[in-house]
Amino acid sequence: MIGILQAREERYEKILELINKKLGTVLCAKINYPGKDKNTYHSKKAFNILKQSLLSLFKENIVLTKDLQGLDGDSLLLVLNLNIVDAKRMSIDVENNHPLGRLFDIDIYNEEGTPISREKFDLKPRGCIVCGKNARECILNNNHSIYEILNKVNVMIDSFGDEYAR
Ligand SMILES: [Zn+2]
Repeated sequence: MIGILQAREERYEKILELINKKLGTVLCAKINYPGKDKNTYHSKKAFNILKQSLLSLFKENIVLTKDLQGLDGDSLLLVLNLNIVDAKRMSIDVENNHPLGRLFDIDIYNEEGTPISREKFDLKPRGCIVCGKNARECILNNNHSIYEILNKVNVMIDSFGDEYAR
């Protein structure tokens, strides 16, 4: 667990470095993958799918691209020549409409280094990946086993072709 926290901290340092360069709006994308192992075949495949959809969605707007690897899984940092609101709207659109969008975690940061909250744009909380009900309640009440969640997530990822695997 310490390794994961440390990886998160290191990623945040990189994000702050990019923000301080003032080249544009900073986006950080990763996979919301359940369980302790964030670097599985399935999480890496899902990350490739996420990365390719963001590179194509933002292709006119990318100033800089950076890939990060760590115990917390892969992540993609982009600097975009878009304002924060447009970047966030487009990211929410991907999270809401891509078949794997529920697994995508796309953060847009403001100049102070704070991620813009999804609630400001879309009041509906994200649904539970297993049953579709309020995700927070399912986590609090421990409604699903880690095995059940992992299985659901991996089946979703398996429905994509092997060209994304590596
Ligand atoms: Zn649930």
